Amino acid sequence: GDRGVFNFAAGPATLPEPVLLKAQAELYNYRGSGMSIMEMSHRGKEFDSVIKKAESDLRLLLSIPDDFAVLFLQGGATTQFAAVPLNLCSSTSDPADYLVTGSWGDKAFKEAQKFCKPNLIWSGKSEKYTKIPSFDEIPQNPDAKYIHICANETIHGVEFKDYPTPANKNSILVADMSSNFCSKPVDVSKFGVIYAGAQKNVGPSGVTIVIVRRDLIGSAQEITPVMLDYKTHADSASLYNTPPCFAIYMCGLVFEHLLEQGGLVEIEKKNAKKAGILYDTIDGSGGFYVCPVEKSVRSLMNIPFTLQKSELEKKFIEEASKEGMVQLKGHRSVGGMRASIYNAMPLAGVEKLVAFMKDFQARHP
Ligand code: PMP
Repeated sequence: GDRGVFNFAAGPATLPEPVLLKAQAELYNYRGSGMSIMEMSHRGKEFDSVIKKAESDLRLLLSIPDDFAVLFLQGGATTQFAAVPLNLCSSTSDPADYLVTGSWGDKAFKEAQKFCKPNLIWSGKSEKYTKIPSFDEIPQNPDAKYIHICANETIHGVEFKDYPTPANKNSILVADMSSNFCSKPVDVSKFGVIYAGAQKNVGPSGVTIVIVRRDLIGSAQEITPVMLDYKTHADSASLYNTPPCFAIYMCGLVFEHLLEQGGLVEIEKKNAKKAGILYDTIDGSGGFYVCPVEKSVRSLMNIPFTLQKSELEKKFIEEASKEGMVQLKGHRSVGGMRASIYNAMPLAGVEKLVAFMKDFQARHP
């Protein structure tokens, strides 16, 4: 099935072809039930096995230890910007540390100001979010309840390759992994909370996955809305209210597909290869293409770049689109181009982009 385009969108983003075809085949009459997933009770036996299988496959993929709960929630990663301080701080006067490496981390920091006393321990803003500091340079607050990072900044293309260790043994590491979730193995045990909107690497929009250490559940602030309290969802296996059933089903198909490819070690190899040929093309262009991000922290998922002759950027995007490479326009806050190459972007898509870039450069000496 060739749809004629390679979709470089940042999210919602391209999904694996076998997953879409399987969903299509099962859409009208799910495994002989006479119903689609969208039409059946979230408490029925079919959906019960869908959500349980999705959870157990995700546990396999990320080797999630048993002392962590997996929650399938709504509200996007944006809702977690509030849920994290509401669940991890006992009152709005508790301190928390925020290490801000891009505009998503900054949004999390700003939202947290309503629910705790977040302290900005480092910001890359003055360097246009192109760096991640070395962690021993950063003064952590020993009383912080947690330290929050955004593991991959979707707009700026900055990705953590290792993680800070909280200064205090009672403090915990919290990561927004929305745009690199399941793109590589992660040692979940280093974190207290990992959260991710599904719509980049693992499914459609509408479901947000939260992986939370069980001992952190159950001490939310009194003002916490029932829907934002991790205990509500952990106690009811994500079925407290009607969950986003179809989105969870789609994530389940993606998890199966990732396992079939050999799991996240194999996925990371594929991602590194794709990102490598794109960065090599940028760096080998003699300055025609520019990626501002420091090499050691460049994202394997979101690759922002500009043209030295910025007046040609519009033409670049239009011509690429005519050749079936769509959604390459950079985020409105940074301009230029951005190629998002999540798990489901085939190598052939990146190869086609790289060939186009070389040809475009040759035509504009
Ligand atoms: N964090 C990151 C890193 C993101 O990329 C996004 C969405 N682009 C969000 C948070 C917000 O996610 P949502 O739209 O699911 O609320």
